[in-house]
Formats: sequence, C-alpha cells, structure tokens
Amino acid sequence: MKYISTRGEAPVLNFEEVLLAGLASDGGLYVPEELPTFSKDEIASWAGLEYNELAYKIIAPFVSDCVDADDLKKMIDETYAGFNHTAVAPLKELGTNEWVLELFHGPTLAFKDFALQLLGRLMDYALAKRNERLVIMGATSGDTGSAAIEGCRHSDHLDIFILHPYNRVSEVQRRQMTTILEDNVFNIALEGNFDDCQQMVKDSFANQEFLNGMKLGAVNSINWARIMSQIVYYFSASLALGGPHREVSFSVPTGNFGDIFAGYLAKQMGLPIKQLVVATNRNDILHRVISGNDMSKGTLEHTLSPSMDIMVSSNFERLLFDVYGRNGAEISDLMDRFKSESVQLDGPRWEKVRELFDSLAVDDETTVAVIKQVEAETGYLLDPHTAIGVKAGRECNRDPSVPMITLATAHPVKFPEPVVQAGLESPQLPSHMTDLFEREERLEVLANDLPTVQSYIAGHVHK
Ligand SMILES: *Cc1c(COP(=O)(O)O)cnc(C)c1O
Repeated sequence: MKYISTRGEAPVLNFEEVLLAGLASDGGLYVPEELPTFSKDEIASWAGLEYNELAYKIIAPFVSDCVDADDLKKMIDETYAGFNHTAVAPLKELGTNEWVLELFHGPTLAFKDFALQLLGRLMDYALAKRNERLVIMGATSGDTGSAAIEGCRHSDHLDIFILHPYNRVSEVQRRQMTTILEDNVFNIALEGNFDDCQQMVKDSFANQEFLNGMKLGAVNSINWARIMSQIVYYFSASLALGGPHREVSFSVPTGNFGDIFAGYLAKQMGLPIKQLVVATNRNDILHRVISGNDMSKGTLEHTLSPSMDIMVSSNFERLLFDVYGRNGAEISDLMDRFKSESVQLDGPRWEKVRELFDSLAVDDETTVAVIKQVEAETGYLLDPHTAIGVKAGRECNRDPSVPMITLATAHPVKFPEPVVQAGLESPQLPSHMTDLFEREERLEVLANDLPTVQSYIAGHVHK
C-alpha cells in the first residue's frame, strides 16, 4: 500500500517508511492512498474470531508489502497476549442499548496501549531489517508517555526519551513511566509545563544536528500506525453486538481526533456505523467546528480529563483531506491560514463534516456529576474521559434503538480526583499492579533549557 501526504507535496511512501517518518516533509500527515474495503459477508465471517485474529485481518492490507505475514501475526499475537483480559476489549452494558467498550486492560491502563504496544514491535522489526537505530523523543502529559515506554522497552533498536513536566503528572502516571528500568528508557522531568516539553520536542525534530547523525522518530498520534491499530476495536465491538447485520453507534472521548478518526475509517472500510459522536471537554475546538463551523484555537484549559487538554487536534487534518476531495493544495492553504487566524470551512465541506459527526463539549462539573450518576444507576465507575463520552452519547443519540457504545479510554484509577469529587471511594489499582508504589523509580530532572536537554540525550543514546 502507498501512503500520501495530506498537503500533497511530500514523496509517496510505503508503510515502513511512513512508520519511521512520522510527520511528512511538507508538514502534512500520511494517509493510505486507497482504503481497503470489506463486504458485509466478509465482515460477518469474522464473528467468533479472537481479538488478535481479527486484528490481523484488518491490519494486514495496510502493511502487507512491507511486513511478512507470519511476522505480522506473531507481533499482533504478542501485543494482545500482554493484555489483562481474555476478550482484550470487553463490552460492558450500562443500560438499554448503552454500552462501554473497555479499552484499558493493557499494561498502562489506557487505550493508547492498543496502538503503542504494536507500534514498538513494528518499529523494531523495520529497524532490524535495515540494521538501523532510531531515537524516540516525545512529550507527555501522562498517558502517551507511559504507553510509549511500555511499547519500546523491549526493543533492541530504539532508545526512548520521554519529557514530562516535573511534578505535574499524577503519581500513578509518573510511576508508570519511571519504574521502567530498561537501559534504553530515559525519563526526563522538565522544570516547566507540558507546552515547554512539547516545544522542546518540536525544536529537536526541526533541527536534529545535536544527535550527530542519528535520527529522531515519533510515537505521537500523527504516526499512521497508531490510527491503523485503533480501527480494529470498532469492528470487534460491532461484531459482538450483532454487526455487521445491525448498525451500532460510537461515542468517543477525543483530544487529538486520533481515536475517533479510526472509527471514521472503520465506517469507510465497510462497517455499518450509524453515528459517530465527538466528545470533548472544555478544550472544545472540535465541537466548535462541528457544531458552528468555528475553527479557532482558544486558550488551553486544564480540566479533570487532562488527556484531552489539547488546543489543536492534529488528526483533524486527515479528515479535512477527505472532505476537501483529497486536494493537498487546499489543505495546505487552509492549515497555513489556521496558524495565525480562525478559519471557516467552505459551506458544503462543513455540511459533509456535520453529516459524519455529532459532537458535545462537557465541563468538569458535568463530568463529576455523570460519574456520580452512572455509579448510582449501575454501580459502574467511569474515568473522567469516559464519563464525557457517556454524556455525549446520551445527549447526541438520534436513534435509541441502535446500541450506543462509548469508548472507555482509561481505567478510573489513573484519574482519582474527579471520582473523589463525586463523593466516591478512590479506585484501587488492578491486582497485577498493586506494587506500583513500591517499585524503584528512575528519572532525570532537567532545567527548561534546550541545550541542556539535547546534550543529555546526545550523551545517553546507544550508537
Ligand atoms: C489520549 C487519550 C484520549 C484522547 O485520544 P485522541 O486519540 O487524542 O483523541 C482520551 N482519553 C484518554 C484516557 C487518553 O489517554
């Protein structure tokens, strides 16, 4: 399969090249030149497959010219064998036609494990073939960092440096990163905030001379392989509830538009999906675009659902590319203008976005109220991101006869504050993690200064 950039100027690449490149050289994001599609009969024939077997069916067409079939099977099997639930992504019923899809049974208790556990293996595989090494550098406000570290810790060809804001991530999130002691894992606690971390990563990607010839790789959600891995659970959820002969709807807590974009792709590939609901917190640029054609940055708000505290949703560009008839020049122009001003989509393009998505923005107060209400109704404890999804699923539901499935993106133990605010008992760590608070930690506290960070990295990479 060939991959093209949303801005139309970067070279066409194959899967392996896209995997290692991250962002396209024209500033765009890579997408498949053509999506594989599956007939209803073919999808129906997958009922009863194990999660890993289903994942193979869906992922293979995207990678088959670069990854040997048996090797791919093995990597997928290993990835999902590491999850702590036999169903991998189990569904739980909240009420009539109301479900949550639990995506938090991976090693770091958030949905990012689905993609990053596989991404680390795929990168290692590609680098081994090429006899190359890569330096992964990323910034995190919590979930991405721990999932990326878990995904890369066993890799022979990667060093990973993750920057988090010193003293500004929750203790569970910090320990999930800093208790990984493999010698290719480096946790940098930066004396600054998340934006400082991100700026440092951006500046380092823009000029990689400090690495003396080594190259940087990205594991953030602009990496196509992440999106690809997330398509699978939309199919597994549908099949579990009678699809493809019956439609289902999804409500997705969203920050960077990665997870929900995977749902859009599932639909394009033939899965009968009735509604896709975009659920945001107060950082509501996506809701403002979808509901009012207002694509403007606003200011960053710190909320009780920090993994969705994002001002600009990078993956939205991938959707716009489709909506604008895959015209790279138009996207390039639109994104250029968006850098410095608010933009509006052309009327018909905006209509198209509205046909595809419904949306809602949910504030902290409502998030806490929903956690409390759902616990009272059902005894089920939601994490704050998932609570936003459940709320949006309820408000935006256009057909109560169709199952509405909210993606449960994290285990509530990762975000105890809103649970406590709801007057509920603080959630417990799952049994396989109860010793997290006793494990040895390793991290490096560094000043908020680019040369300091870069010389630390250059001094620690394995050549
Ligand atoms: C990353 C994350 C999200 C947002 O996912 P996107 O792909 O950025 O839309 C939602 N919830 C949790 C718990 C996350 O970690």
